[in-house]
Amino acid sequence: MLDKNHRFINYLRLSITDRCNLRCIYCMPDEGMSFIPHSEILTYEEMLHFVGLCAQKGIRKVRLTGGEPLIRKGVIGFLERLCKVEGLDEISLTTNGVLLKTFAADIKNCGICRINVSLDSLKSERFFRITGRDYFERVYEGLDEAEHVGFSPIKINVVAIKGVNDDEILDFARLTLEKPYHVRFIELMPVGEKNIWMADRFISTKEIFKRIETIGALQAIGQNPLDGPAERYALEGAKGEIGFIGALSNHFCDNCNRLRLTADGHLRGCLFSDQETDIKTPLRESRGDSYLLSLIDHTILNKPKDHGLVKSGPRKCTRPMNRIGG
Ligand code: SAM
Repeated sequence: MLDKNHRFINYLRLSITDRCNLRCIYCMPDEGMSFIPHSEILTYEEMLHFVGLCAQKGIRKVRLTGGEPLIRKGVIGFLERLCKVEGLDEISLTTNGVLLKTFAADIKNCGICRINVSLDSLKSERFFRITGRDYFERVYEGLDEAEHVGFSPIKINVVAIKGVNDDEILDFARLTLEKPYHVRFIELMPVGEKNIWMADRFISTKEIFKRIETIGALQAIGQNPLDGPAERYALEGAKGEIGFIGALSNHFCDNCNRLRLTADGHLRGCLFSDQETDIKTPLRESRGDSYLLSLIDHTILNKPKDHGLVKSGPRKCTRPMNRIGG
């Protein structure tokens, strides 16, 4: 379905929980977090029903996110059922990788071939400092297991933060020489309750690109329609790729094809806009599919033209990232 700005909306990011087993400095504070009560979180049944309606409206790709999707009880059974929803072409998952070693084979067996693993450091101590948890080894073993069971490609998302992990940009780039990973550098975004957002922490993808070019030329790789917003490159002779997601500096709102469903059943047209449509209440009041379909239409039609951060500068969303679904 087309929105008012002639964008074709075919991608749903589905948050299945607001809880997480990490406490990344830019995302969730270690203390004082309140979580959505379980009764307010959509059940798997409710999500499946709603995804089926989204598929009727042209959604073809669904990505599970959170919080950390792999910590929700019963996630594998849910994935199995999600993979059977008629009309979907691709189902993928974003995870911090902590539970990947346990679940990689099951996820693959459900029919999911694409996973993104968020990993901001290749150093155990640094990982602990960023995430508040000593799970680096687990994540690394999870990546190995994912490779072993045949996930391809495995995308590694790195949020580059000046003074925190930017000295590892070249190490991440070099990793693509040895491993078939698609390492994607993501700009730090001004969301999150603890919000360490500060202009002097921000590194643009342009700056990251320049730093990587000091170790070798980056060759552009042709985009394909399912690539999403990353600009893709590779170092010569690399097994993997390097992607750049300039969410702020090079915003891709003109081509944004996404909707987001929060774990508590609110449909959003933009990560940065607090405009959302309550889906849970009508779902639970059994208002009927045609009403729910009209709410999807409404959200698509009113999808914000852009996130506005380039013009207005950084601002905080009311909901933190774990409650929206990153
Ligand atoms: N737990 C899963 C994971 O780690 O991928 C899914 C949810 S997490 C919120 C999704 C992504 O959002 C992660 O790659 C995380 O690094 C990113 N993220 C969270 N807060 C961010 C921020 N303020 N700026 C940029 N990326 C952020």
